[in-house]
Amino acid sequence: MERISRTKIADLQAYEQFGVKVNVKGWVRTRRGSKQINFIALNDGSTINSIQVVVNLENFDEEMLKLITTGACLSVNGILTESVGSGQRTEVQATEIEVLGVCDNTYPLQKKGHSMEFLREVAHLRPRTNTFGAIFRIRHHMAMAIHRFFHERGFFYFHTPIITGSDCEGAGQMFQVTTMNLYDLKEDDQGSIDYKEDFFGKQTSLTVSGQLEGELAAMALGAIYTFGPTFRAENSNTPRHLSEFWMIEPEVAFYEIEENMDLAEDFIKYCLQWALDNCMDDIQFLNGARKHLYKNEEADDLIERLRFILDNKFIRLSYTEGVEILEKAIANGHKFEFPIFWGADLASEHERYLVENHFKCPVILTDYPKEIKSFYMKQNEDGKTVRAMDVLFPKIGEIIGGSQREEDYEKLSCRAVEMDVPTKDIWWYLDTRRFGTAPHSGFGLGFERLLLFVTGMNNIRDVIPFPRTPNNAEF
Ligand code: ATP
Ligand code: MN
Repeated sequence: MERISRTKIADLQAYEQFGVKVNVKGWVRTRRGSKQINFIALNDGSTINSIQVVVNLENFDEEMLKLITTGACLSVNGILTESVGSGQRTEVQATEIEVLGVCDNTYPLQKKGHSMEFLREVAHLRPRTNTFGAIFRIRHHMAMAIHRFFHERGFFYFHTPIITGSDCEGAGQMFQVTTMNLYDLKEDDQGSIDYKEDFFGKQTSLTVSGQLEGELAAMALGAIYTFGPTFRAENSNTPRHLSEFWMIEPEVAFYEIEENMDLAEDFIKYCLQWALDNCMDDIQFLNGARKHLYKNEEADDLIERLRFILDNKFIRLSYTEGVEILEKAIANGHKFEFPIFWGADLASEHERYLVENHFKCPVILTDYPKEIKSFYMKQNEDGKTVRAMDVLFPKIGEIIGGSQREEDYEKLSCRAVEMDVPTKDIWWYLDTRRFGTAPHSGFGLGFERLLLFVTGMNNIRDVIPFPRTPNNAEF
């Protein structure tokens, strides 16, 4: 076979030069045709669009042709021509074909239209479907958007540890990290496990958030963000929770809660605009795919969905006002599964009611009761609420959780003790409030929740390549 350097299919589609010889490599999506001519849809992942390879059967070896089945990997030399059929602009008239990898008939992606549930069982192959190709390309573009947004604004990307020795955020919902022999655990004099024997000489876990270390950095570099994996062992089997997910956590010195809200809104809008500017092919594909996957009412138009957010200012209101609206809704006959009263944590149904039914717009809810929020949030004058801010989104519920942080050493350490936070583990965190403290704020955006919104998928397991959820860590 003649050696020609490979061109990606994404690049071929922009080619203007017809009649040149090219080489394409990729996997067979479909093969159809007559006894004389076959059409192979070849996809190499660089774009949602497959290239059509036209094969004049009499020019090729019959045994080789038999190997061109769905899923097989081919290298094709051929002449780039303008396509006469509708759909694609260019096609390749094959002159030489090499089968790089055959694919036997147990290949699970033989036909179109598999359910999302089935595709999760073959997560090692699902990136080869159009739907998952689109999702994972969008995932990449969103990650780039995030880095660009912060970089352009002078934020530094700061790496916080994945293994942590403090469990002040996620009591009871952390994954332990240990090298101890679980069949032969040493006990100390009190009969509890002796972690002095363990790798780090103390109990350690996977992080649930990089925030505390992020704050240390903000108090030195001014404005930072983290973007890394986080782990939560909470047993919530919902379409919006993963045991391993990626979180983006900016933290900014001298920001008060209003500036923090502005940052959150600008940030989300920048990412959505980026998706429209850079992922239109994939978004349009998913828009169509969703009409088959989901019931009508769930398959709203994705592009309209994104534009709507861009065109509207997020509503800002206090938790107290939010609860009043929910109570009025109940008085008017609306039924919620979970009770709502001042002091209760909002369930997803409450958040979505505010966003989808009442305001029909994203909402930033602030000033939550201190009992349902973390110890580090800045305490308000009223003694009852803290300066929290959650961004609530249509279809998703909470997409961002953040706050202005308590910068006063006394107030912070008192609150930590009141809330049974093991302060001895976070002496270093408390130190920032002793050594040049300052007002500061930050938030956490769940990367996969953002992706749910952009891709229009309705289960978070379908926007991360290899989902980890209770009872599920295959691949
Ligand atoms: P929720 O109430 O939805 O469980 P949370 O209040 O526990 O979320 P935070 O601790 O505020 O979440 O985390 C910040 C952000 O991380 C959330 O706003 C959400 O976007 C995302 N997030 C939290 N938990 C998960 C999870 N288990 N899987 C995926 N994303 C998550
Ligand atoms: Mn939250």
